[in-house]
Amino acid sequence: MGQLSTIEKLGILADAAKYDASCASSGTAKKNSLGGKGIGSTEGMGICHAYAPDGRCISLLKILLTNHCIFDCHYCINRKSSNVRRARFTPQEVADLTISFYRRNYIEGLFLSSGIIKSSNFTMEQMVECARILREEHDFRGYIHLKTIPEADPELVHQAGLYADRVSINVELPTDSGLTRLAPDKNAQQIEGAMGKVKSDIAEMKDARKRFKHAPRFAPAGQSTQMIVGADAASDADIMGKASRLYDGFKLRRVYYSAFSPIPDASAVLPLKRPPLIREHRLYQSDWLMRFYGYQAREVMQATDHDGNLPLDIDPKLAWALKFRESFPLDVNRAPREMLLRVPGLGVTAVNRVLAARRHKTLRLEDVGRVTVSIAKVRPFIIAADWRPTTLTDRADLRTLLAPKQEQLELFAA
Ligand code: SF4
Repeated sequence: MGQLSTIEKLGILADAAKYDASCASSGTAKKNSLGGKGIGSTEGMGICHAYAPDGRCISLLKILLTNHCIFDCHYCINRKSSNVRRARFTPQEVADLTISFYRRNYIEGLFLSSGIIKSSNFTMEQMVECARILREEHDFRGYIHLKTIPEADPELVHQAGLYADRVSINVELPTDSGLTRLAPDKNAQQIEGAMGKVKSDIAEMKDARKRFKHAPRFAPAGQSTQMIVGADAASDADIMGKASRLYDGFKLRRVYYSAFSPIPDASAVLPLKRPPLIREHRLYQSDWLMRFYGYQAREVMQATDHDGNLPLDIDPKLAWALKFRESFPLDVNRAPREMLLRVPGLGVTAVNRVLAARRHKTLRLEDVGRVTVSIAKVRPFIIAADWRPTTLTDRADLRTLLAPKQEQLELFAA
């Protein structure tokens, strides 16, 4: 194979990075301005969006250092046995690309991952070197997210954290048995061991910065991980259980859920079809319930059907409320915040507005209607000054009444 140009390598390595969901801006329609019509494109490779710790949405150059790999994870297009076209950047090339895109105002940071070349340590060294060039030679102060390799020497992962804003280590699959079957070169203990080390490094360096003003920062945007959904038989309950253990055990900032997408030339052990995208969406909703609505993992699991999977036609909060109807209706003028957060249709902002408003007046149904998108969804679960739902929560057809119409579901399934 002849020498590839930088633009050819960029095409290959940006495309290869799109399977990592950790900072994906997915779900939009494909549009481009090729042929001189219009302006802009949603198809271009290599740029994704992420949220900075202060909530800003930032654009990142998202690429792999290389898509060569000595591992053979069945679900991965870059696995050793795949016949995909390969390319490799040097750390200097990635740093130069980042700086030149940054100067043109295309991006505000870098998301760098890699297949494993030669060895885990060699690959990690190359990724750290890229971050070093950016930080030390260019004094680059933009956002850097480095995927780290759990099998690499912990000292190298530590160095990555000293240069990067965020580091992530993918757990890949929700169960150890799934990992053994689909990623035979990876090891669950090693992955969690590496996460544990990053967690303690973050805590130690935070502590050091409280005592010494000039102590270095270590991954100030924390660590995250990704789980693939639908490549193995793990249920939503398995996935949520794993996510909850990861949040608690390693203080992760985010767990990303990525619906398995069949890859060209796929291994025979993989399913032929991708799971419905709505499944990924329901998992993100459950994740929010655990992180922002005070639900325990076991409570979100109670919202699943007999097969351990969340219903696809209704959101998990509504599914939970329908199963635990005896907890409702709740009086919006008296119920505590943590219970109001369980009312389907009332989000965190709506609940805060209800709490603020009820300090000054006794709330009527129309007052609640002003803070929510769908009072029809809320009505069966609340009591207000002029509203008491009598038999609504007992109705056998309540689920059918509240489930979104089919057309809306298909939007997610597209
Ligand atoms: S280690 Fe596995 S998931 Fe990562 S690039 Fe290699 S084959 Fe793909």
